[in-house]
Amino acid sequence: MSTLRFKVVEEAYGRKAVAVDIPKDRPSDYFGMYVFNRTQMYRYLDHKTYDALVDAIDNKKSLSRELANNVAKGMKVWAMDNGARHYSHWFHPLTDGTAEKHDGFIEHDGKGGVIEEFDGKLLVQQEPDASSFPNGGIRNTFEARGYSAWDISSPAFIIDHTLCIPTIFIAYTGESLDYKTPLLRALNAVDKAGTAVAQFFDENVKHVISYLGWEQEYFLVDKALYAARPDLVMTGRTLMGHESAKNQQLEDHYFGSIPSRVEAFMLDLEIECHKLGIPAKTRHNEVAPNQFELAPIFEETNLANDHNLLLMSLIAEVANKHNFQVLLHEKPFAGVNGSGKHNNWSLGTDTGAMLFSPGKTPKDNLQFMTFLANVMAAVNKHNGLLKASISSATNEHRLGANEAPPAIISMFLGRQVSEVIEKLISTDDDTINFASKEGLKLKNVTQIPELLVDNTDRNRTSPFAFTGNRFEFRAIGSSANCASAMIALNAVVADQLFSFKANVDAKIAAGEIKEKAIIEEVRKLFIENQQIHFDGNGYSDEWKEEAARRGLDCEASVPKIFDAYTTPESIDLFKRIGVFTEVELVARNEVKWEIYAKKLQIESRVLGDLAMNHVIPVATRYQSLLLDNVMKIKEIFGSDDDQMAEQEKETIRRIASHMVAIKEGVIKMVNDRKSANVLESEREKAIAYHDIIKPDMDNIRYHIDKLELMVDNEMWPLPKYRELLFIR
Ligand code: ADP
Ligand code: MG
Repeated sequence: MSTLRFKVVEEAYGRKAVAVDIPKDRPSDYFGMYVFNRTQMYRYLDHKTYDALVDAIDNKKSLSRELANNVAKGMKVWAMDNGARHYSHWFHPLTDGTAEKHDGFIEHDGKGGVIEEFDGKLLVQQEPDASSFPNGGIRNTFEARGYSAWDISSPAFIIDHTLCIPTIFIAYTGESLDYKTPLLRALNAVDKAGTAVAQFFDENVKHVISYLGWEQEYFLVDKALYAARPDLVMTGRTLMGHESAKNQQLEDHYFGSIPSRVEAFMLDLEIECHKLGIPAKTRHNEVAPNQFELAPIFEETNLANDHNLLLMSLIAEVANKHNFQVLLHEKPFAGVNGSGKHNNWSLGTDTGAMLFSPGKTPKDNLQFMTFLANVMAAVNKHNGLLKASISSATNEHRLGANEAPPAIISMFLGRQVSEVIEKLISTDDDTINFASKEGLKLKNVTQIPELLVDNTDRNRTSPFAFTGNRFEFRAIGSSANCASAMIALNAVVADQLFSFKANVDAKIAAGEIKEKAIIEEVRKLFIENQQIHFDGNGYSDEWKEEAARRGLDCEASVPKIFDAYTTPESIDLFKRIGVFTEVELVARNEVKWEIYAKKLQIESRVLGDLAMNHVIPVATRYQSLLLDNVMKIKEIFGSDDDQMAEQEKETIRRIASHMVAIKEGVIKMVNDRKSANVLESEREKAIAYHDIIKPDMDNIRYHIDKLELMVDNEMWPLPKYRELLFIR
């Protein structure tokens, strides 16, 4: 085993950067070449069809069957011109990732040959078997029908010779079984509510658009080393492993130079992203060794989320070509930073206004403060729900650990905005002023041009931070479907905006001047929702106490955090704005608890297996070597040198005590699992896994990690952190 381990490590380090085939063209030449975007639609559809489709997309209309047939005709020709042989509805079930079922374009031609067929019916709607996807009891297997239906707002694309059509996925009875359906509903709600409020400031506004710019963090490990770690393969994270002597203490990885092997991979990935229309822009090292980030230019939220899901499968494929395994898990390694996926979120109007940007005129500033106050109120009222929307078995390891926000939602505003709010609440003065970017002159370095300093400071410890023209929702996990957070956030903000609009309208109806009515409501919201505002250090223990005093949701157990979805307030809210019915909410929580328990169950089984079949045998072998040694010492030195034998015996005792603890720990864990598995309620089961089996696993791991430091390095059966974490 030991030789294998070292061969694997050697091979990994010996590998050269893989050369990529860099197209000679510029990104603008191949950007979107596999996307049925408007340029391609224009080329492949007759003009009447093109106009009708664009009108349907822009104005959220539904397609007639005739129009769908015409679109399908053009899309098929485009897809085949670009090498596609199959088509697939591409949807986002309640599991991690995406689902697709491929069908060939071919049909019998009646003369013994085939023709390529693809009509509007196949484009618009299909019937995947819904019972094979998580559904929380909505689907009974005897009526397993589910429908996938084309989402015209997200363009079709080609991957590996398959035309992929983004679709929603719903049950026969109409309930959503995916992330996209409620996301589209939430985006429609925030459009409607946002438009109503934005029209206070500009009557020409017809739509409010929600924007998302995600930042995807990930780890890379060498594929060969990965293959030698069953825990990484089966669960996506290391279930054991002592910290490496050097990890991130020197802070030398963040923004450090990118190893050439990794850079070759990144370049390849960016090219593939661009071909699929994903506007990948930023890349850098992250804080932990082997941790990196990719961020695109922000886009409309539904499209941005499709692109993130696409990226998550693309990144694994491209990494594979470069002999890397990508880890999207939130916490693949204990003791170093985990991976998040910051969701930069904003609202803008179809007239081009960005609603979270302070403006130059008093009217712009009032509009900014109006949307800010509403976001603040929404986040405050529903802080528990927002936390639920980012919670999962995997993200639970990250929140509150190294360099990640705690499991409490608060909102950072920065000095300047805070001062403006402070003035608004403590005085009757209605004027709102923002200094624009200030110049910063550097002393004694004349060769550097004047710098422009942003008027918002940065706070990396806040889960929800205002960053000058947008909010950065930082608590989202790296493996998550952003839709979960985006559904909750856009929904709560939509609901709040509806109520704001109603309150202002009531005041206007009672004779108040519009601006006065707005500012009064804004002031009220700021006063009532101050408790969510926190600009201090979110990682400190004092904040946890303070947050509890303020009445913010401080629940840290994920299975219980999910309860926030089914409180009467949440059920009412989602019903009111038409995002989820109660049936959907209840079913989705069942799925969440089930997935939570299953993930921990798998981890616990893998850990038990590794402990008993890998670690204990090796430790026993090492122990017997030491025992042999003691016997030989006694034989040669007799009782002359007791100290020598005593030291050896002490080591043997310590090894033995860890081995006993591991064996007992595994027996207890297996029994605890048995008791948990028979619990009828998914919620109770998930809670048992959280409260009992998780600590069981931590205890076993503790003893294994101790043994790792004692047992002969040559014998240790798994690649260690120091081998996994440093790519050269
Ligand atoms: P950071 O410094 O926080 O790491 P990055 O440059 O990595 O920032 O990512 C910032 C992300 O925020 C990008 O995806 C960017 O396009 C996005 N973004 C910028 N402005 C907006 C906006 N108004 N709305 C939504 N996202 C935005
Ligand atoms: Mg970034």
